[in-house]
Amino acid sequence: MVELRTPDEIERMRPAGDFVARVLDATRAAARPGVDLLDLDALAHRMIREAGAESCYVDYHPAFGASPFGKVICTSVNDAALHGLPHRYRLHDGDLLSLDFAASVDGWVADSAVSFVVGGDASPDDLHLIDTCERALDAGIEELRPGATLGDVSAAIGRVARAAGYGVNLQFGGHGVGRTMHGDPHVPNDGRAGEGWPVRPGLVVAIEPWLMRGTDRIVTDVDGWTLRSADGSRAAHVEHTVAVTEDGPLVLTARHPVAGP
Ligand code: MG
Repeated sequence: MVELRTPDEIERMRPAGDFVARVLDATRAAARPGVDLLDLDALAHRMIREAGAESCYVDYHPAFGASPFGKVICTSVNDAALHGLPHRYRLHDGDLLSLDFAASVDGWVADSAVSFVVGGDASPDDLHLIDTCERALDAGIEELRPGATLGDVSAAIGRVARAAGYGVNLQFGGHGVGRTMHGDPHVPNDGRAGEGWPVRPGLVVAIEPWLMRGTDRIVTDVDGWTLRSADGSRAAHVEHTVAVTEDGPLVLTARHPVAGP
C-alpha cells in the first residue's frame, strides 16, 4: 500500500534527511587512501549514537540476506554494486566507492547513497559511470511532480542509462520511504512513460539508479550480502529520498559537503 504524507509529516522527515546527508558527507570526507572500510562504519556508528538516531541496517535481515547485516553503512568498492558489507579493507587511490546509508530520526527514515573515486587518481571511465548515475538520478527526481506517473520516473532514469550505453538491472530499485526503510511503491530503474502509479503530493520515495560498466548481471559475494557485477566491471550507485509536493520534488537528503583541507 502506498502511503501519502501530509505536509506536516514531510516537515517532520527533514531531520532524518539532514542527518543521513551529514553522515554521507562525513564518511565521504573520511574515505581517503589508507582508511579502512571498518573505520567508515565506526564513524557512521558514532554519529548515530551522538544524534540519538537509529540504524536501519544493523538488524536488517531480509529473505536474501545470509544473516543480519550487522553494520550501519554499506561500503561497495569497485565491482561491488550494492549492499557492500564493510570488512577489513584499506582504501586505495583510485578505488570507486559507493556509500549507502539509511537511518531513522524521531521515527522517520531517510535513505541515500553517493559514489565517488577515492584519492586523486580517478579513471575517466569511472567518472563517466558516476556522472551517468547522477544524471539518471536527477532525471528521475525531475519527474516526481503531480501529473506524472512512476513509469515516467523509471523511464527517465532508464533513458539516461541506456543513452550512455549501460544496461539496467531491474532486480533492485527505488522504494517508498517513511516509518520504515522499504515500502511501496517499487520504483524500477527503467520502465514505460505514462504507466504505473500516479505521482501525487505526499509521496515519499527513494530513487536509486545503480549501474555497472560492462554488464547488467550481478552475483552475490561469499559474505552473503555484497552484490558484485557478474563480469568484475566497476559499479556506481546514487540515491536520494524525495518528497513530492504540490510544487514538485523536495530532496530530503540533499548534501552540503564541507570543503576538505
Ligand atoms: Mg539506500
